[in-house]
Amino acid sequence: MARFTRVFGVPKLHVNFTRGLRFRLAVSYVVLFAVVLAAIGILFHQNLKSDVENDIRATATSDWEAVKLYVQIINQRPEWIADETDPEEAFIVERLRHVYLLTDANGNVLQASERYASIGIDSPEEIRRVLSLRDGETHIRRDKDGTPYMIKVGSMMDEHRNKYFLAIGRSLAESYRTVNKFTRTYLILTPAMLAIASLFGWWLAGGALRPVNNVAQAAQNITGANLSVQIPRRGAGDELDHLIDSFNRMTARLNQSFEQIRRFSTDVSHELRTPLTAIRGQLEVALFTAETPEQYREAMINALEDVEKLSSIVRALLLLSQAESGQVVLQKTSFDFAELARDIVDQFQIPAEEKGLTLSATLDPGVILSADRTQIERLLSNLLSNAVKYTPKGGSVRVSAARSESGEWARLVVEDSGVGMPAESLPHIFDRFYRVRNEHTNRMEGLGLGLSFVAWITDVHGGRIDVASTEGQGTRFTVLLPLGQEPTDTAATEPATVAQVPGLSSLQ
Ligand code: ADP
Repeated sequence: MARFTRVFGVPKLHVNFTRGLRFRLAVSYVVLFAVVLAAIGILFHQNLKSDVENDIRATATSDWEAVKLYVQIINQRPEWIADETDPEEAFIVERLRHVYLLTDANGNVLQASERYASIGIDSPEEIRRVLSLRDGETHIRRDKDGTPYMIKVGSMMDEHRNKYFLAIGRSLAESYRTVNKFTRTYLILTPAMLAIASLFGWWLAGGALRPVNNVAQAAQNITGANLSVQIPRRGAGDELDHLIDSFNRMTARLNQSFEQIRRFSTDVSHELRTPLTAIRGQLEVALFTAETPEQYREAMINALEDVEKLSSIVRALLLLSQAESGQVVLQKTSFDFAELARDIVDQFQIPAEEKGLTLSATLDPGVILSADRTQIERLLSNLLSNAVKYTPKGGSVRVSAARSESGEWARLVVEDSGVGMPAESLPHIFDRFYRVRNEHTNRMEGLGLGLSFVAWITDVHGGRIDVASTEGQGTRFTVLLPLGQEPTDTAATEPATVAQVPGLSSLQ
C-alpha cells in the first residue's frame, strides 16, 4: 500500500552511524593501518629470521672447516689431533663434536655424536649426492625433540684422496627464540597500536568532516522562503570552499527564478484583474443603471473590448509558455531579410504618418537569414510598434538592416527619437509584464509582453539583442542574427526544428 507523510519544518539531519562518512573514513584508516602493521611485522619477522639463519650458517660453515683441520683419517679411522690437555682447545673440540657425523663414501658411520643420531643419520644415497657436490651445502633439520639445527654437509679426503662425508650442526633454538620473542612482543603491541589508530582515525575524520557537517546544517536551514541566505565561505580556498561557492551560486540562481515566478504570478493576477474589474463594472452599469437600448449597447461594447484585451493577454501568455516549454516548431527557411523588413516597414507607414512621425529605412539587399519567417516578422513588428508607440509627434523612427563587419551576422537596428527609458529599467524590459511606469508610458496601452517575445525569438535563432536608451532622447534596439545560406530553388525550406528554450531566464 502506498503511503505518504507530509513533513513540516526542516527535518533534522540524521545519518546512519555505520554508513556515515566519519565511520567509514575511520574504518578505512584503521584497516589501512592494520594492513601496514601486518606487512611491517611479516617483513621484520622474515628479515630477522633470515639474518639469524645466515649468521648460524656462517658459524656452522666455519665449524665445518675447523673440523676438517682437527680430523685426520688414517686407514679409514678418524683421529682428532687436538691437545686435549689445553682446556680451551678441549672446549672447542667438545663443541665441534656436539652435532657431528663422519661416514665413508658408502654411508658407513665412522663417528657420530649422540645429538646427530637423534637428528637422523643421512641415507647412503643422500651421502653420495652430497659427495658429488663441489662445495657441499647447508640445510635446516630438527632432532627428535623438534630442536632446529643448521647442518653443514660436505666432503673431506684422507691421505689416499678417498672421499668421506662430514656433517656439522649448530643449534638454531636460541636464535629462533629471539625471533619469536620479537614477534610475540609485536603481536601483543599490535592491538594497542590499532586501538590508538582507531581513536586517532575517528578524531581525524571528525575534524575533516566538521566543516562538511556545518555546510550541510547551513544548507538545511535554507528554505524556499529564505533562498537569499548564503553559506559563509571558510576562506581556506579548498575543495569545500569551492563546493560552498557552487552551492551559493545555485541558491542565488534558484532565488532569482523563485523571484521571477513570484513576480510573474503577481503580474498575471494584476493584469487579469484590471480588465476583469472593468468588465464587471460595465456589466453592473448595464444591469443597474442602463435604461435605453443604446446605453445597454455601449456597456456591452465596452465589456467586449475588455474581454478582447483579456483574451489577448491569455493568448500571448499561452504562446509564451508554449515557446518556453519548447512546443513552438520553428519553420526555418532562407529569405532576404531586407525584403521582409521592407514589407513590415511599409505596414507601419500609415500609423507612423497618423502620429506625425517620419519612418525611414536603410535596407541592404542580400542579407540572407535562415530563420522562421513568421517569428522574424513578429520580432520586427514588436520593435517597430514600440518605436512608433513611444515616440511623440514630430519624432522619427529609423530601421536599418545590414551585414555586420565580421560578415557573420545580420544586424537589424530599430532606432527612435522617442521618450527613452531610465537606465535602471533596461535590465528588466525583457521580463514579462514589465512596463516602464512614468507619465509618458502610463497613457500607452500595452501588456509588457512584446519584448519578451523579441528576446525569445532572438534567443531561439542563436542571436543577440542589445538596447541603448536615453530618457527624453530616444532608444536604439540592435538585433544580431546569424547569417544564412543563399536560398536555392530546390532547398529553400529546411526541416522544422522545435524551439527549445531552457527556462524563464532566457526571456530576459
Ligand atoms: P508594452 O506592451 O508595454 O510595449 P513591451 O514588452 O513591448 O511591452 O515593452 C516593455 C516596456 O519597455 C514598455 O512598457 C516600455 O516602457 C518600454 N519600451 C519598449 N520599447 C520602447 C521604446 N522604443 N521607447 C521607449 N520605451 C520602450
